[in-house]
Amino acid sequence: MPTKTKSVKLPPSRAKISTNGAKSAKAHKYVYTWGAGKADGDGSMKPLLGGKGANLAEMSSIGIPVPPGFTITTEVCHDYYEGGKKLPEAVKPQVEAALNLVESQSGKKFGDSHDPLLVSVRSGAALSMPGMMNTILNLGLNDASVEGLAKKTGNARFAYDGYRRLIDMFGSTAMGVEHEAFEHELSKLKEEKKVKLDTDLTADDLKELVKRYKAVYSKHVGEGFPQDPKDQLWKAIMAVFNSWMGNKAVQYRRIERISELKGTAVNVQAMVFGNTGTNSGTGVAFTRDPNSGADEFFGDYLINAQGEDVVAGIRTPEPITKLDSEMPKVYKQLMDIRKKLELHYKEMQDVEFTVEEGTLYMLQTRTGKRTGSAAVRIAVEMVKEGLIDEKTALKRVAADSLNHLLLPQLDPKAKVTSVARGIAASPGAACGKVILSAEAAVAFHEEHPEQPIMLVRKETSPEDVAGMHLAKGILTQTGGKASHAAVVARGWGKPCVVGCDAIHIDEKKGQITIGDKVVKVGDYLTINGTTGDVMIGQVPTVDPTISGHFAELMSWADRTRTLKVRTNADTPADAAKAREFGAEGIGLCRTEHMFFEGQRIVDMRKMILADDTEGRVKALEALEPYQRKDFVGIFEAMDGLPVTIRLLDPPLHEFLPHDDAGQNEVAKQLGIPVEKVKRRVEQLHESNPMLGLRGCRLPIKFPEIGDMQVRAILEAAIEVKKKGKSVLPEIMIPLIGTVEELSILKKRALAVAEEVFKKAGTKVEFLIGTMIEIPRAALTADQIAEEAEFFSFGTNDLTQLTFGFSRDDIGSFMPAYIEHKILPVDPFQTLDQSGVGQLVEMGTVKGRKARKDKHGEHLKVGICGEHGGDPESVVFCHNVGMDYVSCSPFRVPIARLAAAQAVLGSAAQRDK
Ligand code: ADP
Ligand code: MG
Ligand code: MG
Repeated sequence: MPTKTKSVKLPPSRAKISTNGAKSAKAHKYVYTWGAGKADGDGSMKPLLGGKGANLAEMSSIGIPVPPGFTITTEVCHDYYEGGKKLPEAVKPQVEAALNLVESQSGKKFGDSHDPLLVSVRSGAALSMPGMMNTILNLGLNDASVEGLAKKTGNARFAYDGYRRLIDMFGSTAMGVEHEAFEHELSKLKEEKKVKLDTDLTADDLKELVKRYKAVYSKHVGEGFPQDPKDQLWKAIMAVFNSWMGNKAVQYRRIERISELKGTAVNVQAMVFGNTGTNSGTGVAFTRDPNSGADEFFGDYLINAQGEDVVAGIRTPEPITKLDSEMPKVYKQLMDIRKKLELHYKEMQDVEFTVEEGTLYMLQTRTGKRTGSAAVRIAVEMVKEGLIDEKTALKRVAADSLNHLLLPQLDPKAKVTSVARGIAASPGAACGKVILSAEAAVAFHEEHPEQPIMLVRKETSPEDVAGMHLAKGILTQTGGKASHAAVVARGWGKPCVVGCDAIHIDEKKGQITIGDKVVKVGDYLTINGTTGDVMIGQVPTVDPTISGHFAELMSWADRTRTLKVRTNADTPADAAKAREFGAEGIGLCRTEHMFFEGQRIVDMRKMILADDTEGRVKALEALEPYQRKDFVGIFEAMDGLPVTIRLLDPPLHEFLPHDDAGQNEVAKQLGIPVEKVKRRVEQLHESNPMLGLRGCRLPIKFPEIGDMQVRAILEAAIEVKKKGKSVLPEIMIPLIGTVEELSILKKRALAVAEEVFKKAGTKVEFLIGTMIEIPRAALTADQIAEEAEFFSFGTNDLTQLTFGFSRDDIGSFMPAYIEHKILPVDPFQTLDQSGVGQLVEMGTVKGRKARKDKHGEHLKVGICGEHGGDPESVVFCHNVGMDYVSCSPFRVPIARLAAAQAVLGSAAQRDK
């Protein structure tokens, strides 16, 4: 079974002869150097050199200015753990040799007390991985060389600032000293000196700070700060390797299911300084805008700053465009590099750079993360620019990330002030009036059905779903990405922000407070589920459309794919929306939803409560016009496209109220004694309704129900056909387990059809097929296909029945199953290919063969469960050879792209 496609393979070990003067001529190559326009490695060697190291080598060899350095390979990390935490013999001499090379390229000596070479020690695995050791800068400074550096640069402040940072970084990242212990000394000194900013401290102050930092270090480590630079270097290198098995890194790999990496690499690189004065600086940038995808340089920089200062939020950085006026020469060079990198990598890059005394150095490049909209725009524009071809563009956009373009978004022109930020749980923007409980939401909706609701709760639970369903958006104070609110909202495609601990809910007072702001029940609140932002008031939103770059990418997808994409839609409005999104038919039109509104439910209940067939027929006659009208609307909307209509599926008790009040009301409405209602509810009670009287079992027991539906479908089809439109109805009988069920119901449907056609004096073409959703149906697909003109895999029920999981009850154990790796993902979200998938594949193959043998026809096969909109499952459906997938309207574009990627054999299925 294909698992997540993160797999990175290590190239076969190269027994290259070391060129770096290691003792043994045969020694395995453990260290790769770069610098001065050359490099041992290249960008393709990420598994061995890590992402950072491979790209530093690559940049260096294409003539981009990179401070010289070397990479100790991931293999060393691997061998270190294999060998009981011992480094392979050959590593030491190779590191020494590489260090010599860096010394000669930089013209400085490591440990020199007058003009020392300083280095950074940077971790880096093949995949970017939080939890690994932070970078240590300025390594190589000691009590003697800090003086030398001060003299050499004429900048004692700079030298001592570098030294105290080294003690802090080395102590906290390599030796486990609390960073706060150093910070505490810094604050104390600032207080003593009565200054506010770090930069207000003088050289002497920093000298004093170094003394105090050293004291902190010895106190926590039990020995003094190492004065031998080589000692520092090896301790730092070992710390990187040890961090590979640190808690955070191990956890991260477990959660992300990363198991194929050998280890982390260690990069040692000559330092360049962005903090020597106003002619220096440091910055981070994307070669294109990662939010919109616009072809504009995007980033921040800080003058006179080092390392992570830009992202650490200590000082507010400047937008990169301002560098044009501040350092025009550097800016121009940076723009050239931007171009060069994109031309080289043919991908948007995320870069880090430092300027030392007017000279630019690049310190990192990698593929830039981006939003779904940016991914689409960048992919399409890169095709126009001739950088990539259409196929590559299609593979570049994670199908799921299209979600970002398919939900209401905050109007880009609107002014947005976020008052709090929670966890972005379900994307899209929503705005509504604050309501604090699900019951209140239901009541509010009854009174003001047209007004939008924003449900704000501490957390949600299954009892809240009715209110949640009515809300435009959901905001919770607690909970994470997998909380009830998050999961439910995502299932509905409803914007949701969870875990927003900045909000305080006071149900008694009927208000929430956010900081010092009060929002009363009924006041407007807006959330952005894409970012997690919460805004007070009404921020305008815009509805998605497929246009511009998005439309263009979709047209390429359509040209590429062979799998058709239909939609699950029960109303003309949904059908029309889905068509706009490119649906090529309806794969599932559920009829039960049509029986809930207004008078319909009354007639439905009459039918259920009828004593005999005659009573039922009468009630059904009243229902038929409604059904017909619904179908007419849907057929018209889908003019020329096939429409699969499923006959009534749920158990009848779902249409009756279970509480006294509701039952009294029904009795009143129908003019019958309430005891009768109660009795019928009791009669219909089942211990396992999902396995009870539902699906095809209903018309087997009450044939008149099926007759009415078939009549309504065909009469509607004739009506629409008479208007000059083309209709392709496909009648789908649910929950078939044996061919006999199907033969009986098919015969009946054909009889009704004949009657309808005779009466109308005309005919329509139609198909009768079945859902394959009971394992027995898949197992006997050959028999069923002799009767069925099409198959549609109902993978929700099929998953339910194959696993024996009740879909409504998995909440209590599925998280544990995922945690214990019993299942890789929720099988109701992504099709279980190795289990349920076998039934799908077998059913398809057997059904197709039998249909061909017996009738000489191709059996049309599709899928209509939730899986039809899940990219990984779509690829599976393509591979099985299905004719189409069917999914909710908003997932149609996602399925179209996934279907194209299936043809291209793409790996980029899941959005990471
Ligand atoms: P991360 O993996 O967190 O991105 P890096 O190894 O890129 O960590 O280091 C963080 C920052 O430290 C870099 O962005 C850069 O600003 C600074 N840095 C790293 N190495 C050097 C160096 N040799 N000279 C100057 N700054 C460096
Ligand atoms: Mg970095
Ligand atoms: Mg079903």
